[in-house]
Formats: sequence, structure tokens, C-alpha cells
Amino acid sequence: MKLRLLLLSAMLGIAVAHAHAWTVTSPGGAISVDFTITGGKPTYSVAYRGRQVVSPSTLGMQLADGTVGENMTLEGAKPRVTSHDSHWVQPWGEDDTVRNHYNEMIVRMKSRKTTSSRKLLNIAVRVYDDGFAFRYELPGNGNVEIIDELTQMRLAHDAQAWSIPSNRTEYFEGIYERGLLSAKDTVCTPLTIEYAPDVFLAVHEANLTDYASINLTPRLPGDGTVSLLTALTPWQSGVKVYGDGVVQSPWRMMIIAPTAGDLLLSRMMLNLNEPCRIADTSWIEPGRYLGIWWSIHKKKNTWEMGPAHGATTVNVKRYIDFAARHGFAGVLAEGWNPGWGQGETVTYLKAYPDFDIEGVCRYARDRGVRFIGHMESWGRAALIEQEMDDAFSWYAGMGINAVKTGYVGHLLDSKELAKSQYGIRHYRRVIECAARHHIMIDNHEPAMPTGLQRTWPNLMTQEGVRGQEYNAWSADGGNPPSHTVALPFTRGLAGPMDFTPAIFNQGDDVVPGTHPHSTLAKQLGEFVVLYSPLQMAADAIENYEGQPALTFIESCPTTWSKTVVPHAAIGQYVTIARKERGDGGRWFVGSITDEHARKLSLPLKFLDAGVRYRAMIYADAADADYERNPYAMTITQREVTSADVLTLTLARSGGCAIRLEPLH
Ligand code: CA
Repeated sequence: MKLRLLLLSAMLGIAVAHAHAWTVTSPGGAISVDFTITGGKPTYSVAYRGRQVVSPSTLGMQLADGTVGENMTLEGAKPRVTSHDSHWVQPWGEDDTVRNHYNEMIVRMKSRKTTSSRKLLNIAVRVYDDGFAFRYELPGNGNVEIIDELTQMRLAHDAQAWSIPSNRTEYFEGIYERGLLSAKDTVCTPLTIEYAPDVFLAVHEANLTDYASINLTPRLPGDGTVSLLTALTPWQSGVKVYGDGVVQSPWRMMIIAPTAGDLLLSRMMLNLNEPCRIADTSWIEPGRYLGIWWSIHKKKNTWEMGPAHGATTVNVKRYIDFAARHGFAGVLAEGWNPGWGQGETVTYLKAYPDFDIEGVCRYARDRGVRFIGHMESWGRAALIEQEMDDAFSWYAGMGINAVKTGYVGHLLDSKELAKSQYGIRHYRRVIECAARHHIMIDNHEPAMPTGLQRTWPNLMTQEGVRGQEYNAWSADGGNPPSHTVALPFTRGLAGPMDFTPAIFNQGDDVVPGTHPHSTLAKQLGEFVVLYSPLQMAADAIENYEGQPALTFIESCPTTWSKTVVPHAAIGQYVTIARKERGDGGRWFVGSITDEHARKLSLPLKFLDAGVRYRAMIYADAADADYERNPYAMTITQREVTSADVLTLTLARSGGCAIRLEPLH
């Protein structure tokens, strides 16, 4: 009798433990997330095709008045899995229609014992066929201060990973380095992990709205796993997040893909953002733009007014004429407003005396071009907020529909980090104010993007990337050949990048040895590979005049109906093919390589079957080489179909760009 009782209680013990495990599986079944409350702690683990990817990892919140995430029990009914399957259309993007297909479970818990006034914790888990995500919700009333998010992501084993360090990278303008995850100290997201030959992971966050940006700290528990701990960006006070009422964290997400190329095709980050809040998006116009930008970085022009001022009426009209002739939608002129010279007061409400902004905007409009506004704040977010409503209203009245914002400076308003909750709130206010005035935003020195363009598609593109400008003046010689080949798989996973490609003149007159370390054909390939809906052809117009290579740039769209990735080796080479929107049916291909020359076989099976295409191929010449002969390029034409296979011959740090037009 006694023995049977013991056996019975042992069996009950097992039964109880199992009763506390709930599983959500992806619609296609490849990914499953197990959720338990183990020792009172919310705990999850993740398997992909039967292999554990995330070992049991705990979740919780350290609040100012106590911890939520210990001594937890289920609150109310057992969690249920619900399914969601819908489609939505992107006003612009790398494809037009996105499928949002996932299974979701919300686990509602209560703390039996905490000093915190918040005792409830809900965790929502969504599982897609290309990854999983979860987010916290703290129900309740009144103020709450989050001191730390106790989120673990414990990878089952160490692996090579690509990242920039979060503790010493200003504005996210760093070179992504490959190395063992366990050897990294702090990392920004997106963090891209070569987990296994057939498993690629990318960790990031989505829908960062009123919260602190995430950073990750790898730690080694000693059991072979690598634990990624969450380090939220603090306010000066040390508090990470100030909340009021119900607090929701951004989604913590991991893309799980069988190839590196599939990482680029995941739209999970966008799906985890709220649907579009702009009812009529017809005023949002992606396109190519030019600017008096490279000439300033090359010290031929100045930002401030003076003998070499770039943003003069005459000079900007010269750019507008060129834009009109070559099909560019916009012309950006930085330094059009006072604030750049010594002792000048910054304002966005008047132009320098040598820049007739109203006349220039009229001149542009008459030629089907738009002047692009610019608001550099030197970190003075408060000044932008003070003037933006009046400034956007004035600009819109003149026909300006895009503004580039900038925040050069270590801190916003001399006190808070750009990626803190303070900065996140500021950037959001700018986007929403701009939307009211039908202004598109190109934001420089941003927080890392998290997919907000789904909700506010006037947030077109952002910097937060080590861009072309480093090839003008960086003391280290500029960006290495592998840089743009790593970017699509790293920073690019967070959304559009205003990298500003297409430098045709590789002079190094500012810093000897500092120039784009690529061939001309690679500069064309980057125009397709590095996605931005407002895509700058960054060189000075005199360097484009009479260049046959410009015929590729001036024909290349910046919004697409479909994207495919025929070749993908992170930091080594990548080929991307994109189909234009509308009835034209053209495809554009960009292929780029690191410092190694390569031959890549490109089956054209992505083309529509049964259609003949004229392929214009902009390729490295046989003797092209990024160090000795960067400009040597051939432009050839041939007819192809989806049955053909092209051989791309890329020089060292070379590239290839192809335009495929249907023949009717
Ligand atoms: Ca910059």
C-alpha cells in the first residue's frame, strides 16, 4: 500500500511537471517553442527540425520595486494556441505582398510572492515558419520603472557570428566582424549567427515603440551553451524604461533559416509591427535621388555659407537640371539653412541668403523633380521638436515631400543616448508629425530600425550603417571590400539603409589611400543589393556626366514586386535579383564580391517562363581589379530566357549589374 502510494505520487509528480509545458509549433511544423514554468520561472526552449537551437532559457523583469518572473504560477485558464493567416501589401519594399502566417500562445502568469506592485506578467509567443518571437506585457495601472529585462536566449552551442560591438560603436557605424559568439563582449542587434551549415539565425527586436533599444551580452554558463543576456539601453538615471499603465515590450525575435539567403527573405520583423496607420499612402513616393553631399565630404564644397558653399541657388539648380535629364526624383542639398557656421543659430525655418529655397522648389517642380529638405540637429532633438510642425508645413507648401534628419553628437539634448527610450520617443514623434504633413523621412544617426515602416511607411530609410562617406575621409582607408557583402545579412536585416552607393570617381584627394575599394561594376551592383526605397546616387554630377555606367543607375527602380537571392555567402559574395513593380516586367540583378575574384553561375529560372528578355550586362572587364584598374567595365547585350544560365565573372572586389527587359 505504502509503495503504491509512493509510486502514485511519483507518477503524479511527473504528470504535474508535464502539465506545465505548452508547445507552439510553426504552421509548417519546422519550428517549435516549448514554454514551461520551471521552479517558478517562465522558461522557453526552441527546436528547429528536431534539433534544439535554444536551450531552456528564463524570462522576467526587474522592476524598481521588485522582480516579476520568480514564484510564478499560471493565472486563469491554460494557454491556448491560436492561428493567424493574412496578407498585406507594402506601399513600397523588396516585395509587394507579405504573408503573415503564425501560431500564437499567450501565457498569463501571476507572481505568488513579490515586493513589486506589478504581480501579473503575460508573455505572448508567436511562431512562424521563418522564426519565432515573444514579448512581455505587464498589466496594471500607474507608473512602473523597468530596471532590467531578465531575458535569456541560451543557444545550445557556440557558433560563428557577425556583429558590431554595442559598447564602442557610435551610430551603429561599424564593420561587422565574424567571430565566435563566446568571444564577443557586447553586441548590437541584428546579430547574425552561422549556427550550422544548414541553420542560420538572426536575433533582433521588432516594433520598438516606447521602450529602450536592446543590446546583448554573451555569457558562458559552462555547460557548452552560450547565453545571450539582454542589456537594455539606459536613461541617464539608470532606469531602462519608464512605463505608465499596461507596458508592452518590443518583440524579441529570432529568424531561423536553412540558408543565409533565406535570412534576407524573412518578413517576420515587418509582420511583428502594427498595420499601416496612414490611410492614403499615395503621396509616399520611393525613388532615386542626387545630392550636393559627396562634394562636401570631398571638401570641394562647404556646408556653411562662404566662397565654396554647396547649397547655393545656382548650384542646386544645376543638380536639378541633371536630375530632370536623368530621371532622378529628388535633389538633396545639405547646408541650405543657417547653423553650420561659427556662432550661427540653428533654424529650419529660413534659408541662407544665397539660397532662394522658394525659387529652387518652383524650379524643381517645373521639371518634375523635388527638392529634398535637410534638418541637421547636432543632437538637439528638442530643437527639431520645437520647429518641425512649422518647418514641415512650410516645406510641404513648397512641394518638398522628403526630409533627411540628422543627429550628429554623442547624446541627444546633451543628456540621453539616441537608442534610449528618450530617443525612441523622439524619433517616433518626428515620423508621426512628418506623416501629418505628407513628408517622407530619411533619418541619419538613428536608433537601429525595427520595422516601424510597416506602421508609418513615410519612414523610408535610415543610416545607422557605416556608409559610403567613410570612403571619402576615414583615416583607416575606407570600407574594406567585404563590408558591403556582409551588410545585407547584418544591418540590412533591420530594414532599408541609406548607404549611398554609386561613387564613380575614386579619387583620394581628401585622405591619400581613402576611396571606395571596389570596381565601378561593383558600385552598380550595390545599387541593387543594398536596399533603400530612397536610393541616392551619391557622386557629384560632374562625375556622372557622359558615363555609360549611369544608364544602369538611371533605369533602376527602388521598389519591387519580388526579390530572390541566387547567391549568398556572408561577407564573401551575394547576388540579388529583383522584379520591378507595375506592368514593365523588368528584372534587375546585382552581384558583388569581397577581395576575391569569382565566377558565379546564375540560372535565370526566376524570369517569367516563355518570355524572351534583352539582358544589358554591366560587368567587370577581364583586366578589372579594384586596386589597379577599377573602372574597366564592359556593357554587353544578349537575349535570354528563364532556361539560360549566365556566368558572372567578378574581379577582385568586383561586381555585376544586369537589367532584363521583356521583348514583346
Ligand atoms: Ca554618418
